[in-house]
Amino acid sequence: MPPMSLPFSFDHSPDIARATERLAAHLPPPLAPLARVAYNYRWSWTPGARETFRAIDPARWERVGGNPVRLLTEADSDAIDRAALDPAMVRQVEALVSIVDADLARPVGGPISRERPAAFMCAEFGVDASLPIYAGGLGVLAGDILKEASDQALAMVGVGLLYRRGYFRQRVDTNGLQHEYWIDVDPDRLPAARVCIDDKPFVVHVPVFGRQVAAQVWRVDVGRVPLLLLDTDLPENEPVDRWITARLYDGDSGIRLAQYAVLGRGGIRALHGLGITPSIVHLNEGHPALALLELTAQRVSAGASFDEAFAETRQQVVFTTHTPVPAGNETYPASQFLGVVADLAADLGIDNRRLLGLGRIDPDDEEEPCGMTALAIRGARSTNGVSARHGEVSRRMWRSLFPSKPDGATPITHVTNGVHAPTWIGTPLRFLLDRYLGDGWTAHASDPSTWAAIDSIPDEELWAMRDELRAQVVELARERSVTDRLTRGETLSYVESAARTFREDVLTIGFARRIATYKRLHLLAYDPERTLRLLGGDQPVQVLLAGKAHPRDDAAKGALQNLFALRNAPEIASRVAFLEDYDIALAQTLVAGCDVWVNVPRPPMEASGTSGMKSVLNGGLQVSVLDGWWAEAWDGSNGWAIDGDTDADELAQDARHANALYELLEHEVVPQFYDRDANGIPRAWIARVKRSLRTLGPRFSATRMVEDYVRDVYKP
Ligand SMILES: *Cc1c(COP(=O)(O)O)cnc(C)c1O
Repeated sequence: MPPMSLPFSFDHSPDIARATERLAAHLPPPLAPLARVAYNYRWSWTPGARETFRAIDPARWERVGGNPVRLLTEADSDAIDRAALDPAMVRQVEALVSIVDADLARPVGGPISRERPAAFMCAEFGVDASLPIYAGGLGVLAGDILKEASDQALAMVGVGLLYRRGYFRQRVDTNGLQHEYWIDVDPDRLPAARVCIDDKPFVVHVPVFGRQVAAQVWRVDVGRVPLLLLDTDLPENEPVDRWITARLYDGDSGIRLAQYAVLGRGGIRALHGLGITPSIVHLNEGHPALALLELTAQRVSAGASFDEAFAETRQQVVFTTHTPVPAGNETYPASQFLGVVADLAADLGIDNRRLLGLGRIDPDDEEEPCGMTALAIRGARSTNGVSARHGEVSRRMWRSLFPSKPDGATPITHVTNGVHAPTWIGTPLRFLLDRYLGDGWTAHASDPSTWAAIDSIPDEELWAMRDELRAQVVELARERSVTDRLTRGETLSYVESAARTFREDVLTIGFARRIATYKRLHLLAYDPERTLRLLGGDQPVQVLLAGKAHPRDDAAKGALQNLFALRNAPEIASRVAFLEDYDIALAQTLVAGCDVWVNVPRPPMEASGTSGMKSVLNGGLQVSVLDGWWAEAWDGSNGWAIDGDTDADELAQDARHANALYELLEHEVVPQFYDRDANGIPRAWIARVKRSLRTLGPRFSATRMVEDYVRDVYKP
């Protein structure tokens, strides 16, 4: 008799192994080991790996969106043969394979065992641009957490959804109006494999809309961390049910709630079916909150009373809240909620009124809608915000959930976000830092002494690096602004004159973030005359913009249109580029190349913000409102700050903050950037960059963040 196949293993997935063998079989032997690399996103944070894949067939690498499985499948056969005969390429492949293999072979670290791992659940994961199942900051943070958990050898498994049409892509027309479109994702061409048990696809059934909806499960390996993605696009499902996992943050709130049922209930059922019993279930934002009711229902069906089951589940669940913005804390009218999770009360052994009460601030208020954040806070043993200030804001915001606690004692803490340094540091800078901070420094990124060596980097070398990174983003801006503008239908003469003037030696400011009203894009051109003077002065400034507005956020879309209304001013056309379709790939080039990163949210709406941290790690300087992470990061000389005071008079606040932004740029940022010594080096600027890296590097890396989670939140 063959040995019984274990349904799940961290180290070895027969499904991924099969896909890898298939891919390897049609590669020449020297390149065959690359198939294994292609099927594990560990390559995406191995310095030089992206460059190795690209070098095999650069044009194809662009066309396949940086997806290595597609590259190796679809690359020109001459290109593949050439690479296999190139000794330098073969050496790079061998080096890459041994780095990845050695990483996967390390023993488990940290206090959590693989027998009882941590399950990290989220509606989106931003692992890499080639895996389009993320929208923005929440997903990128989730991806960074999985990667850092892998680096720390933690026993973690990710749970999410595989969206067959991903998140929307963006086009902007000449009037600045955003258009959305979707591209089909073919999971067979992703570095993913369908999970099978005994050679049959593993399927879970989830009660949604009063029906049993079937979901298959895909596995994506993110280094040592398996990411399990549920997918309802199966022929046995009703057409509506197949659509549930079509689009990330679908426009219809009933579909969204159905997604959260598949994610939360289905995710727990998938873990259960694969024999995974998590010691910790980490709900990342409210979307997967139904997981805690599924865990409760499992205990009820094993004989516990609802109260016992809920209390026991609570000891297993932790929750991170990510935004005070109402749209990020969704609630549903009772009838809608019960329509989607029709069977849930019965499975829990309670009535509908009690079920709805779990998601209400006041359980007895039958008028109140039912919300995922309230449910998650109630059902988790701990809740945390994502910066010190956001912790405070969340304690105020959710105080009424804890009527028996005195003011100020609301049990919500914070773990400030961080970013995964190996993912976000541009490759040439990474090689420079490896030389000065020492090989393997990223494993000690939370230790301030790791960063002390920043001071030993000669100014000339650091400045040359900044020049190189800026040149890369300027090249991208030239290319993209030409194609974006031609696509938009701008005239050829407009396009050509504009593209010529982006320069490699001009102070480059980045502003890339979701276009939401509270991010206040309009402050950049608050006083158009003053903005034009900055752009066209003797010491010029160029600005790179990017970001998507939610399809239904008309106010945010209007802000983009207002900005575009200025496009015919010559300084704007030649020094400002709006780069369409902000994604991880664009973000990587922007955060690496921009000298200054601007952030002007309306306080206290920015829970954390992470793009600024990515900029810091690349030697960018921050000009930011003291909200989110910057409120705890700024020390007076590691960047620039605008006050973070709240103000009931929003117009007055806008005027004050816009003026502060102009003052800083005109009197400090621009003069300091152009203040050069005889060798052309801006000494004061470099000193500030070093101070920023030294003081912020250790505090805002994902290394520090995941250490905090393990020590303060996952502890038994
Ligand atoms: C980092 C990142 C974000 C989040 O940036 P914020 O500063 O939090 O607004 C959004 N989108 C992408 C693609 C990112 O890489």
